[in-house]
Amino acid sequence: MLLSSQLVSSAFETVVIDAGHGGRDKGGSWGKVYEKHLALDTAFRLERYLKKKGYRVVMTRTVDEYLTLGQRAAIANRYKNAIFVSVHINKASRTGAAGIETFYYGAKGKALGQFVQSNMISKVGATDRGNKKASYYVLRKSYNPAILAEIGFVSNSGERQRMKKGFYRDALAKAIADGIIAYDKRD
Ligand SMILES: [Zn+2]
Repeated sequence: MLLSSQLVSSAFETVVIDAGHGGRDKGGSWGKVYEKHLALDTAFRLERYLKKKGYRVVMTRTVDEYLTLGQRAAIANRYKNAIFVSVHINKASRTGAAGIETFYYGAKGKALGQFVQSNMISKVGATDRGNKKASYYVLRKSYNPAILAEIGFVSNSGERQRMKKGFYRDALAKAIADGIIAYDKRD
């Protein structure tokens, strides 16, 4: 007898996308460039790429609203056979700091993060800051494989200029989607 899990080709069916910050929490900013806006736009682009591939996508937020970390984790944990992907933009006091990094907490998140991080780096050629373990609340509280991607520094003028452009955010979203799909299809 087949288990229902053997009937689906995919190890997971749902991707919960979490656009960081929102509402009164603008996240990292530089002038009028706000992390919350860049993260939401990139999240929408990621949503479109994943839906095209047949995944069910749940967004923790679709508008510029404030959500607590607890609310984000609770939304993610409503779904079984799901993964959690949080999208953020970095900021550093040192304006030379640059590159892309991905964080995970659990072992499944580590594997997912490796695929997503390597796809982003190969697609946009940014500095590879690595796939690293971190005890971030939304990662720690997730029952599902969970990652948090920091897709560039708003405090770095070159990366800020690139992230302000839709085609660059689109390339990053596509790279994240490709990483998720590669993780899904892994042996
Ligand atoms: Zn953030």
